[in-house]
Amino acid sequence: MSSDLSAPLAARFEQIRAQLPPGTNLLAVSKGHNAELIRQAVALGQRSFGESRLQEARAKQAQLADLPPLDWHFIGRLQANKVRSVLRSFGTVHSIDSLELAQRVARIAAEEQLAPALFFQVKLLPDPSKGGFSPEELQQLWPQLRALGPARPVGLMTITPLGLTPPQSRAVFEACRALADACGLPGCSMGMSGDWQQAAAAGSTWVRIGSGLFGSRASGTGLVAECDPIQ
Ligand SMILES: *Cc1c(COP(=O)(O)O)cnc(C)c1O
Repeated sequence: MSSDLSAPLAARFEQIRAQLPPGTNLLAVSKGHNAELIRQAVALGQRSFGESRLQEARAKQAQLADLPPLDWHFIGRLQANKVRSVLRSFGTVHSIDSLELAQRVARIAAEEQLAPALFFQVKLLPDPSKGGFSPEELQQLWPQLRALGPARPVGLMTITPLGLTPPQSRAVFEACRALADACGLPGCSMGMSGDWQQAAAAGSTWVRIGSGLFGSRASGTGLVAECDPIQ
């Protein structure tokens, strides 16, 4: 991790922003942290925030309703019965991990007259703890996945398994970038606090950084218990 957590929030944002190549956006993952911290980040110019739990996110969105509209991204596992509420509260979903979910999102987006941006989650190495399409599944289902109007497929999302070396992570990210390119998808949501530099170097368009910006989620915001595990 390159960010110094003893530094003020502004310095952490600066440090990360200074290292991001053009075309790589910063998604500040605010799950497990309170609305006041988000407000501070907004004051530092951050507009895009990632949350993985609907209820927690909506409570914070309500507390921040006085601010100009923010750009909310849903990054957690999306349950079928939460799709409508998630689409009402988030403009982008990073965790579309099955054809069935994708089609449900498209149908509800049409009913709600919304056009959410979608990332398909892919699993490039075997990892029983995570969902997602294998590259073969993605390619096989691609004719159906690409036609989800009014939802907008914009990219692929991946999470590396724990314990990879930086060169191994970089190879996974490069494979994700190549698969997105092969599908004609511009976006790649990849890279977290521990590996965003490798992801940025491999062509990530969104690095999703939580603890590297806001500190540990275990350190007492009172929201930790509500937080879904990383998937
Ligand atoms: C929590 C989470 C992140 C951020 O993780 P950090 O290691 O705190 O940066 C990124 N992506 C997803 C999908 C997450 O659930």
